[in-house]
Amino acid sequence: MAEVILKDLTKRWGDFVGVDNQSLHVRDEEFLVLLGPSGCGKTTTMRMIAGLEDPTDGEIWIGDRMVNDDLPKDRDVAMVFQNYGLYPHMTIFENIAYPLRVRGVDKAEIPPRVQRAAEQVELTKFLHRKPKALSGGQRQRVALARAIVRKPKVFLMDEPLSNLDAKLRVTMRAELKHLSRELQITTVYVTHDQIEAMTLADRVAVMKHGVIQQLGTPDEIYNDPANLFVAGFIGSPAMNLINGSVEDGMFVTTGGTRLVKVPSPDRARAILGVRADDMQVHEAGQGDIDVTIYAFENTGESTLLTVQWGKQRVIARGDRHLRKEQDDVVGISLNTDHLYLFDPDTEERIR
Ligand code: ATP
Repeated sequence: MAEVILKDLTKRWGDFVGVDNQSLHVRDEEFLVLLGPSGCGKTTTMRMIAGLEDPTDGEIWIGDRMVNDDLPKDRDVAMVFQNYGLYPHMTIFENIAYPLRVRGVDKAEIPPRVQRAAEQVELTKFLHRKPKALSGGQRQRVALARAIVRKPKVFLMDEPLSNLDAKLRVTMRAELKHLSRELQITTVYVTHDQIEAMTLADRVAVMKHGVIQQLGTPDEIYNDPANLFVAGFIGSPAMNLINGSVEDGMFVTTGGTRLVKVPSPDRARAILGVRADDMQVHEAGQGDIDVTIYAFENTGESTLLTVQWGKQRVIARGDRHLRKEQDDVVGISLNTDHLYLFDPDTEERIR
């Protein structure tokens, strides 16, 4: 069993709190993603698990052992970094073999294990080369092979795809997902890319200012966001957040538009959340409300309409065949099954 358990974990530097009294239970064989904007404490959390950073307070457990006082090399974790950390003077074979050699694995065992790891990441053709003779994606695979070659209890991955170009990142993401399902090793993965988090994770911990805002499956954090931060962070384009009030069971925008029925008691201030995909686009006069297009974008697979909605702008997703121009008027209607309401003061979800 290789669960990772954080109990009331805190990291402070002077007055600054990087990670604030966080508890987290990563299940055995789970792929858990720490997701959040730059500076939210993801890397610090992971470095504490790895033993590269000492916690100010709290406990870290790997399996049934409290590892706070264990050196990194004694924690049986393998790390994959953004910059790969390969040794330039060694061949790919030697790079992958390195963790086995430093642990004194029997010499005869090394070549078949390197070969097996190289097969898993499709690198066998490159074993004799040096890292500089490989592409970015291939180097990333060497870093993965070096992590999997010794079957650690836990993988720790810090933005491993972020140095790859956009296209390769998508390919490597699928490879990583495939590999992780095959290996079934407990993994903690750090990223600020929500698509990466959604696609790879069994569960995602969304962080802000050193605090986990929500821990849930990709479905839960997308469809059932706990608060305004998670709602605005997950999803592309970001969820539309419209300021207004609730009057007589209707959401009224600050501009005075009576927009949509909401199942909430009256409130002087509320924020309505609606995703671009939950706003249908119609011809003018045929939706709930007519709006003017501020910008029309064709992405190929769909169209995005930024429309002026009273004093605010919101984004609706249209059919990929839709063709409109800036300043055209269209009708919009909202899918009332997928509306969210937030309290602007506490930022908590009301419904
Ligand atoms: P990024 O995605 O940019 O790497 P992150 O979420 O991984 O961000 P961390 O690297 O964990 O963020 O940093 C969290 C906060 O702690 C940041 O505000 C950072 O400036 C601060 N921090 C990190 N290391 C130190 C340090 N050694 N001394 C002081 N502050 C630090």
